[in-house]
Amino acid sequence: MLLIGSHVGFNSKDQLVGSLNQALSYGANTFMFYTGAPQNTIRSKINDKLTKEALEIMNKNNIELTNIIVHAPYIINLANNKEDDKYNFSIRFLKEEIGRCKQIGIKYLVLHPGSHVGVGVEDGLKSIIFAINQVNKTNDSVIVLLETMAGKGTELGTNFEQLKTIIDGVVDKDKIGICMDTCHLNDAGFDVSNFDKILDEFDSIIGLNYLHCIHINDSKNPIGAHKDRHENIGYGTIGFNNLINIIYNERLDNIPKILETPWIGDYPPYKEEIEMIKNKEFNSKLK
Ligand code: FE
Ligand code: FE
Ligand code: ZN
Repeated sequence: MLLIGSHVGFNSKDQLVGSLNQALSYGANTFMFYTGAPQNTIRSKINDKLTKEALEIMNKNNIELTNIIVHAPYIINLANNKEDDKYNFSIRFLKEEIGRCKQIGIKYLVLHPGSHVGVGVEDGLKSIIFAINQVNKTNDSVIVLLETMAGKGTELGTNFEQLKTIIDGVVDKDKIGICMDTCHLNDAGFDVSNFDKILDEFDSIIGLNYLHCIHINDSKNPIGAHKDRHENIGYGTIGFNNLINIIYNERLDNIPKILETPWIGDYPPYKEEIEMIKNKEFNSKLK
């Protein structure tokens, strides 16, 4: 089944009900949200009554909670342990975020592996592994999905070998997985026009059974630019047909696919983009 949706908001007043209603208005059957603003760590308490209300609406609309994704905030950086307070803060915040996911019943939490900021790739990967194992001591249900990154600055997770190293180091293999991002793959140097080749490589290095989410974004930049600037579907260097081929690749069936494309002015374009994807027809009037 095609699971297609977008990033949606999550406000303290309506919480999951608000996010769900937004997703439904876009014609989505999955969605992703941050439990607060992505740039900060101010979070309100999860309201179980609202969660229950949302679950009832989901039931009526054949949306499964296990297909809903949470994204951890960007300021968590597990890849640099040189400053104790920052590193410990990241670990503590990730623990709390996992707690919120568990309370809602969320299965998948997407996490940027982190930037090593000078300590080097090897030590950066080690500090990520230590942090995740630390966090997993109190995690019995949430699967942390490491996102494939564009390679901006000193970002880690820009190739499958690095991600495999992290997975190898994580003790509890049931609590770790991968989220691919088409813009990030392109910017990291992968040619996403031949996605089967990428999936073959992924399968032989990591294993396709670890892949649980895909971010569907076009890119503003050419292959290997290491930039990470998302573009609307069909308006970037990846192009509409390549993205459609990825979305409908049979090997990726039943994996939630999430749009994180930019708003057009103050307008979220997700209804129109989801329509394009369902119709397999490019809408050249979107912008
Ligand atoms: Fe991300
Ligand atoms: Fe992403
Ligand atoms: Zn990105």
